[in-house]
Amino acid sequence: MELFKSIGDLHEEQEKTSTPESSEKVRCLIIGSGPAGYTAAIYAARANLAPVLYEGLQPGGQLTTTTDVENFPGYPDGVSGPVMMEDLKKQAERFGSDIRWGLATAADLSAQPYRITIDDRHLIEADSVIIATGATAKYLGLESEQQFMGHGVSACATCDGFFYKGMDVAVVGGGDSACEEALYLSGLCKKVYMIVRRDVFRASRIMVERVLNTENIEVLFEHLPKEVVGDQNVDGVIVHNKKTGKDYKVEVEGFFLAIGHKPNSDIFATYLNTDDVGYIKTTPGTSRTNLEGVFACGDVQDAHYRQAVTAAGSGCMAAIDTERYLSEKGL
Ligand code: NDP
Repeated sequence: MELFKSIGDLHEEQEKTSTPESSEKVRCLIIGSGPAGYTAAIYAARANLAPVLYEGLQPGGQLTTTTDVENFPGYPDGVSGPVMMEDLKKQAERFGSDIRWGLATAADLSAQPYRITIDDRHLIEADSVIIATGATAKYLGLESEQQFMGHGVSACATCDGFFYKGMDVAVVGGGDSACEEALYLSGLCKKVYMIVRRDVFRASRIMVERVLNTENIEVLFEHLPKEVVGDQNVDGVIVHNKKTGKDYKVEVEGFFLAIGHKPNSDIFATYLNTDDVGYIKTTPGTSRTNLEGVFACGDVQDAHYRQAVTAAGSGCMAAIDTERYLSEKGL
């Protein structure tokens, strides 16, 4: 399997896929439509930047896979993820944002104006680019996991944990996220099982210590989840104990995945500084990347908080940084 490609190969591939049928020039291009992208659009439109926003593969982003959002300030009774995203979109459109279907399939950030190809056929030349492409939670790839999505299976304890108050749940993963999710859930749930595939955690020592010192967390080392089971909703997970070679059922009503996220930064990776997972690096306290006029906000640059409200806040920062950049450059 080919694991590494040279920069020359990447350029060649991008050129092949980017023979555009049409083109246009914009002042402010926003890529991505979660809370970060839409908030950036609201602010950019109100600052007269005439933003054009491409929604990407999953219009509305990760929140559209959530049922109720109860932790976004301003919604005392909660709101469904898709409704909140629709409201944010309408708000951005009200101020004149041009919101379009389409996926950014290639990027040439080697010179200004920056060149972004949409759906392999439409070329946008942009004076400024706001990247709000988010991150995608990793799943195990089990069919049953998809079947119970929103009915006991979740990849966000902070979003969905409350629905499992007083119940037994399982968290898969041994990294910092899994520990954080398990600790969060331990304050709400009766019992939390952590399903860890090796005999050690990947997480930092302090997180591991907290987990091990929490009475209602039981760690199942060297266990692999094989199947999520239930009728309408999850009532358990079949796990494989690597030490004994036996499969058995752990009775839980919630099954949380915390096996990592993949930031959606692949098409920019040749040009932008990222960490080793692919999160775009920004100058602390700003949305600036290593390229002037290119800003990043939301989960694509945030391995840590990953909340709708922090994404929205960083979208606001990106729009303000963009407005200042364009006015300083007289663009
Ligand atoms: P990590 O990649 O650090 O951990 C992923 C975990 O999931 C590992 O234990 C891994 O096992 C396990 N895993 C991966 N694939 C599977 C699979 N198919 N089946 C079973 N288990 C699997 O991801 P995180 O999201 O935890 O963290 C990402 C980054 O964010 C890290 O740098 C982390 O330190 C940081 N972070 C920091 C926090 C904090 O400081 N409070 C909070 C959250 C994240 P294995 O170890 O065997 O590979």
